[in-house]
Amino acid sequence: MEREAWCEGCGVTLQTVDPDKPGYVPASALERENVICRRCFRIRHYNEIATVEHDSDAYLSLLAEIAKTKALVVQVVDLFDIAGSWIPGIHRHIGGNPLLILANKVDLFPQSVKRQRLKEWVDRMAKELGVKPVDVVLTSAAKGFRLREVADAIERYRDGEDVFIVGTANVGKSTLINRLVQRFGAGDDAVTTSPYPGTTLDAISIPLEGGQRIVDMPGIIRKDRISEWIPPRELSAAIPDSEVKPKVYQLNEGQTLFFGGLARFDFVTGPKQPFVCYAANSLYIHRTKREKADEMWERHRGGLLSPPSDPSLLPPMKRHTFHLKGETKQDLVVSGLGWVTTGSQKSIVDVWAPEGVQVHLRPAII
Ligand code: GDP
Repeated sequence: MEREAWCEGCGVTLQTVDPDKPGYVPASALERENVICRRCFRIRHYNEIATVEHDSDAYLSLLAEIAKTKALVVQVVDLFDIAGSWIPGIHRHIGGNPLLILANKVDLFPQSVKRQRLKEWVDRMAKELGVKPVDVVLTSAAKGFRLREVADAIERYRDGEDVFIVGTANVGKSTLINRLVQRFGAGDDAVTTSPYPGTTLDAISIPLEGGQRIVDMPGIIRKDRISEWIPPRELSAAIPDSEVKPKVYQLNEGQTLFFGGLARFDFVTGPKQPFVCYAANSLYIHRTKREKADEMWERHRGGLLSPPSDPSLLPPMKRHTFHLKGETKQDLVVSGLGWVTTGSQKSIVDVWAPEGVQVHLRPAII
């Protein structure tokens, strides 16, 4: 940064280097007047202080408390963004306690996708991450899908002990707990829910019969999900809230797809093939020629290419190049946004996403 600048909100010195340190702003935001730091931005836009990130050390020491007690740990994950919503290293921090995984938001998947297949996929994923859960239950807190199975699994595996519910922000933990307390009888709306990450700030305790409790732990914010960068009022345009209708694009090499102003997919080389996009139905996908894409991006982001309507909210875009062998279909995942399933032809593709947002390749799940 050339000159020193201060946040108009809290007065902290602004910096563009470390998102984890106070005063962070994306470099592009500095060009505007009345710049506020990202923390103030979040407070202002989320209208609450709750979205201040829990740094992961603090969160891990919170988890360490669980390791000291005998309890069932229930990790809620977002099935639509499982890698991005996983608590990194969870198994190392919960001691010898059993771990039950609730894979929430199953309602976002097309009906045609077999639930058993999704369950096996979560099982596999857990295994790859070195986790041996006692069970994996697919659910939809919002739709009340399989709640009986969830409640039965909790009752079975808790074996008379306390229950700790953990998860990253926005996986639907509060929604789920509200549903569960209705079932366990602690009254309605014991926990407030919000569409914005990080609402559940303090651990909330819900009494169970027999003196045990369900403890709702604060959610940790993972900054490598694109959803954490989108202002709340624009989240509904970017994050799916109902069954995702896949969109198929037959692309020739040299074609580009823009996902609003959030991500860009370039088909660099390879034979013509279908690419199937899984993202919020309301997210505008724009197809263009790759040679025109840079100019289009500069001219239209924040307008035609949005959300976000204010592009300076995002870190600069970073390119990730993938050389696809084309033996099987694969998913190119942008954490918090969705994924593109490739065709099974050898090709090279570039995925552009805001710097710091996780982009990865996995075997196709659908
Ligand atoms: P928390 O931060 O983990 O406590 O998450 P919330 O319970 O506040 O939910 C975050 C967002 O996900 C809200 O917009 C919810 O409406 C939504 N949500 C929660 N559960 C589900 C679900 O099962 N399916 C879908 N589609 N959305 C859900």
